[in-house]
Amino acid sequence: MSFQLFGLPVSRGVAIGRAVLVASSRVDVAHYFVSPDRVESEIDRLRSARNAVAHELSTLQRDLPAEAPAELSALLDVHLMLLRDETLTGATKQWIRDRHYNAEWALSAQLEVLARQFDEMEDEYLRERKADLEQVVERLLRAMARGPADSFAPAPGVQARDFAGEDPLVLVANDIAPADMLQFKRSVFTGFVTDVGGKTSHTAIVARSMDIPAVVGAREASRIIRQDDWIVIDGDAGIVIVDPSSIVLEEYRFRQRQSALSRERLSRLRHTPAVTLDGERVELLANIELPADAVAALDAGAVGVGLFRTEFLFMNRGGELPGEDEQFEAYRTVVETMKGMPVTIRTVDIGADKPLDRMSANELRHEHALNPALGLRAIRWSLSEPGMFRQQLRAILRASAYGKVRLLIPMVAHLSEVRLTLEALARARVQLTEAGKAFSNVEVGAMIEVPAAALVLPSFLRYFDFVSIGTNDLIQYTLAIDRADEAVAHLYDPWHPAVLRLLSQTIAQSRAVGKGVCICGEVAGDPAFTELLLGMGLRSFSMHPSQIASIKQTVLRTDARRWAAQVERVLGADEPESHCAGLAMEMCPPPKLAA
Ligand code: PEP
Ligand code: MG
Repeated sequence: MSFQLFGLPVSRGVAIGRAVLVASSRVDVAHYFVSPDRVESEIDRLRSARNAVAHELSTLQRDLPAEAPAELSALLDVHLMLLRDETLTGATKQWIRDRHYNAEWALSAQLEVLARQFDEMEDEYLRERKADLEQVVERLLRAMARGPADSFAPAPGVQARDFAGEDPLVLVANDIAPADMLQFKRSVFTGFVTDVGGKTSHTAIVARSMDIPAVVGAREASRIIRQDDWIVIDGDAGIVIVDPSSIVLEEYRFRQRQSALSRERLSRLRHTPAVTLDGERVELLANIELPADAVAALDAGAVGVGLFRTEFLFMNRGGELPGEDEQFEAYRTVVETMKGMPVTIRTVDIGADKPLDRMSANELRHEHALNPALGLRAIRWSLSEPGMFRQQLRAILRASAYGKVRLLIPMVAHLSEVRLTLEALARARVQLTEAGKAFSNVEVGAMIEVPAAALVLPSFLRYFDFVSIGTNDLIQYTLAIDRADEAVAHLYDPWHPAVLRLLSQTIAQSRAVGKGVCICGEVAGDPAFTELLLGMGLRSFSMHPSQIASIKQTVLRTDARRWAAQVERVLGADEPESHCAGLAMEMCPPPKLAA
């Protein structure tokens, strides 16, 4: 029977496919299809992992010290039994044979099936065996990771091929950590739904950057949707339709075709300069997460990178951070790809919903009673790790020898942080000079994303060449709304008059002293704000490459001067959003229909 679930629309478009339920803890597992001739060797990988784990468990048991509690040995027996049980390994082989899933995916798919059966058991003792099963699967996955490299896994950036011609697949999970989103680029999924998450959580941001339809905060989705259900993800409306009727399916297929056509039309603007009706030039830059994303930025017609979120290079490395040379290579790749256009590299913004090791925002909230968004994050973390920080600064400076680099500091709120940062930068320059390593001039900018920084902007501007407004955090901290929490998502309001005033004031004060000002938060890629921001005097916007064309279209249709005359009225309105919509109608009335 068909039914709908409602969540938050976070990434536009429509995805139609069969649901693949993945436990949140297993989203990091690679998902791809193996070709029919590789099925048997994929089963061999599973078999070898099982033998390795059996050996591991038997050795553990044999070497247990005499004084070890008897329960420990019994527990290892249970694990060995689960390992040999056909409902785990036999069924996993079936997933590989029937669906051509890779071994890790097949194993986690079977774990999902069994975990549900355990959850439904009446007997508490049996129900608790689910944790043992998860531990056994964890061991198997680790054994596979240690095993011979899987040369058939698609390389990063390569689209996984559907060898078996299966139906398109969409992922359904309770939550997805931002770092796991990067797996998506290598996976077969065409969209996703999660139970939790906010519109500007980093998981949602990465989904937008990849331009895959997504709905987050759909509450019970992963509990209600069943493996293999056909679902439609309407990423524009935030609706998930489970088991759609053929009429609904046809309607959504039609919409898919329409949006492909309109994207195609918009992409023709790629090489058109972004200039308003009254002749104001506007800079449309790209936000990227990984060096490979720079290609998409270039293809979309970006005139530079306005935000490179370098923290994604630091995640999921088991605590081992990328060294100076590795970072330098990553930054240099982007600088070279952008062919002389400016590249704004932000120093790491680790913390809050972007922990170093994989953990979703939801897990973080439960693991740490304190609010991580207000904790050791971004520049605070960097300054607490001076060695790591200088290493990153050196790597960024070195990349400047290959093109135009701007350095961006996230989340500054205190002048003491500004001074410490500039000192670290000066030190990094001295170290490079002493080591005889080349670097060039780098402009230094601050992210304005804490209201305190916006309120004391003139003092900050004395130290920086430019500022970039991070509206995602500025809204979070101004309104005291956790951006990753779907429970308060309805209060996360970019149109709040307090937010608009901070934006307008930051733009005006920066321009008044001749300093560059950009917006790199999600608001920059939302066409609903473009006219107003142009009216406020903003001439530099940074967004996901996929959003550039539609923002450009709005820029081309806007008279910035007429909007400038309206800014005070909007700022004074109780409900700026509807006021702004009314103004847009006034300035650009819909065409009159012929009588
Ligand atoms: C922001 O806060 O608006 C921003 C661009 O940074 P991030 O989303 O990475 O916190
Ligand atoms: Mg931010």
